[in-house]
Amino acid sequence: MYELVIVGGGPAGVAAGVYAARKKIKTLLITDTFGGQSLVSNDIENWIGTKAASGYDLAKMLEEHLRAQEEIEIVNGDLIEKVEKLDGGFRLKTQSGKEFETERILVTSGSRRRHLDVPGGKEFDGRGVSYCATCDAPVFKDKVVAVVGGGNSGLEATIDLLPYASKIYLIHRRETLKGDPVTQEKIKREPKVEIILNAETKEITGSEFVTALKYADKTTGEIKELKLGGVFVEIGSEPNVDFLDDLVKFNVYREVVIDHRTQKTSYPGIWAAGDVTDVLYKQNNSSAGDAIKAVLNIHDEMTGQDRLAPRL
Ligand SMILES: Cc1cc2nc3c(=O)[nH]c(=O)nc-3n(C[C@H](O)[C@H](O)[C@H](O)COP(=O)(O)OP(=O)(O)OC[C@H]3O[C@@H](n4cnc5c(N)ncnc54)[C@H](O)[C@@H]3O)c2cc1C
Repeated sequence: MYELVIVGGGPAGVAAGVYAARKKIKTLLITDTFGGQSLVSNDIENWIGTKAASGYDLAKMLEEHLRAQEEIEIVNGDLIEKVEKLDGGFRLKTQSGKEFETERILVTSGSRRRHLDVPGGKEFDGRGVSYCATCDAPVFKDKVVAVVGGGNSGLEATIDLLPYASKIYLIHRRETLKGDPVTQEKIKREPKVEIILNAETKEITGSEFVTALKYADKTTGEIKELKLGGVFVEIGSEPNVDFLDDLVKFNVYREVVIDHRTQKTSYPGIWAAGDVTDVLYKQNNSSAGDAIKAVLNIHDEMTGQDRLAPRL
């Protein structure tokens, strides 16, 4: 029986792992991959203490830091699929059929990209529809492409495509873009980029490969068609919580609801931190910080300390 199982190897999970090991909590960290969502990023410039790192480098740094701890067991390359309640703890079942028992769980399983739910979205996945500009941009050399989504991920995808695509339509369903103003300015200066606002993507068409995207102009209701060779979908993400069933309380976005002072979920013995939670700001550094908070609270609980002053 472990004292703690950490689910996830992104910035939150790894930060938790380092702290749990140093507190000598008998811990297992289980993750699908190390590094988390920004693994696909070319350039992370705000991981504090490091001027710039690729997602790959960040993942390597995180994994190395965790593996330098003596007091932790690590399973990499497997997924938790189910959590069962036991007397005084939980049984976790993995995709590969392994089972682990633990007194406590810290959920740091982050989130995954939301898929485009329109005709053609699924059919052309991998045949012109992509969810990773960093990975796939070179395949679209000299092609006209669209990026669907005007948040930070959409803006980043547009920047990744600039050296390759001949033209980029940036399609956003609201009146104004949502991403960082600095990145917006950069994109607005690029002659290759055409921003289409108030546009609701309706269909992706093609034969063997994508050839067009249809969208509704929300101001006129008119359906318009763009001839293109690729569509990059960047419409947000959804939390990785399937394995939790209805064990804990979720908000309307299926984010785990937590007490923001302690990172406790509604179910005793389960804590959560990072992008999987209902925290407002989702960043590498803050995810790591919140996970540290969770481990310190777990340690307090294990050692019978109560630091919580009553709220005014
Ligand atoms: C393209 C992109 C670029 C970004 N750039 C930046 C940036 O420059 N700076 C910044 O601060 N933030 C950036 N972000 C946001 C940042 O990546 C997230 O806030 C951060 O990764 C959240 O960390 P996390 O550990 O909570 O979750 P995640 O990073 O999502 O990590 C979750 C981990 O859990 C694992 N996992 C998932 N489900 C299971 C399961 N069932 N069992 C076991 N393991 C599981 C995954 O493999 C993964 O390792 C970016 C995000 C994206 C998408």
